[in-house]
Amino acid sequence: NLKLSNRVKNVKPSPTLAVTARAAELRASGKDIIGLGAGEPDFDTPDHIKEAAVKALADGKTKYTPVDGTPSLKQAIIDKFKRDNGFDYQANQILVSCGGKQSFFNLTQALINPGDEVIIPAPYWVSYPDIVLLADGVPVVVEAPVEQAFKITPEQLAAAITEKTKLVVINSPSNPSGKAYTLAELKALGEVLLQYPDVVVATDDMYEHILWADEPFANILNACPGLYDQCVVMNGVSKAYSMTGWRIGYCAGPQPLIASMKKIQSQSTSNPTSIAQWGAEAALNGPQDCVKEMLEAFEVRHKLVLDGLNAIPGVKAIPSDGTFYSFPSFHEAMEKKGFKNDLDLAEYLLNEAGVALVPGSAFGTPGHMRLSFATSEAILNDALARIRKALEV
Ligand code: PLP
Repeated sequence: NLKLSNRVKNVKPSPTLAVTARAAELRASGKDIIGLGAGEPDFDTPDHIKEAAVKALADGKTKYTPVDGTPSLKQAIIDKFKRDNGFDYQANQILVSCGGKQSFFNLTQALINPGDEVIIPAPYWVSYPDIVLLADGVPVVVEAPVEQAFKITPEQLAAAITEKTKLVVINSPSNPSGKAYTLAELKALGEVLLQYPDVVVATDDMYEHILWADEPFANILNACPGLYDQCVVMNGVSKAYSMTGWRIGYCAGPQPLIASMKKIQSQSTSNPTSIAQWGAEAALNGPQDCVKEMLEAFEVRHKLVLDGLNAIPGVKAIPSDGTFYSFPSFHEAMEKKGFKNDLDLAEYLLNEAGVALVPGSAFGTPGHMRLSFATSEAILNDALARIRKALEV
């Protein structure tokens, strides 16, 4: 007779983790399953990063650190923001957390009162709406269809802002769409937000380094420096350095907001794992060629996947600008095969083709499927052939 909170009843478990778990379950039962659902690079964490953590362990760096991160990691983050993004931050504007997920969790807990609205462009990273719900906020989803290359327009943003809007989230390059906003597009969005100084904008730059578009990486603060006092820049080492299990994310923003987020963290997890922080510091301060090597592999695989998907009748993919995701439309294929929704299609592909993809409805964009190409070319070729065969009529 367990009486759970309304809070927990309102949220759903992460669907991407669920797909990965279901694929693992089928695999354990002896089925030949290719998992293209996971949101993590397939590479190992580079050696110099592992060595830094091993050394930290050997040196006894195994105690509590300051809640917001070790001074030397915070300095490495300050240097990273200056070097890569041209931003100036002080140590009291930086918070290190247990993954980018906790950065966003802290932000919503620090900012949102019951009923406050958070504008989330769809397709979105699956966790944004649920983390907002956990803060008793109201996710306001703004749909960015494939015709808009999955990007919202300034008109859509302006129309979505109300007196209750507290926060707007921009994720570029985007999980799941793989698309990145151009500097000009960000400037147009930023100009809308400049008219609302009480609205905070969070730029989630988790895929900053996994980008092959013509333009170099830029976020909304690059496009509109006037947003400095209302912008939180979120990033982390999970994707760029293949460190998903280390659980280190970080963010920078206005000092009072960062201090409030730190207070939340001080009463939940305290500091992120000490030795993982030493690894993250080595990642940020060390040689960056490992990032480039992974990027090159992702770019080659992207081409393979894009061509392979578009060769399947009823499937259409637009090129990704970065990340390791493609987010093709399966609308026609679903119609031809008589599937009512993408959940049924995902189940069919898992059972018939032995390929795990995440249905687009999990990201707020039904009829698409997210395919992660963080796996070898041989496996991707096999998966594409299987999907093609399963969708033949
Ligand atoms: N933001 C986006 C857009 C992501 O895709 C992810 C991970 O999937 C995160 C944040 C969170 O990353 P972390 O593993 O560091 O919590």
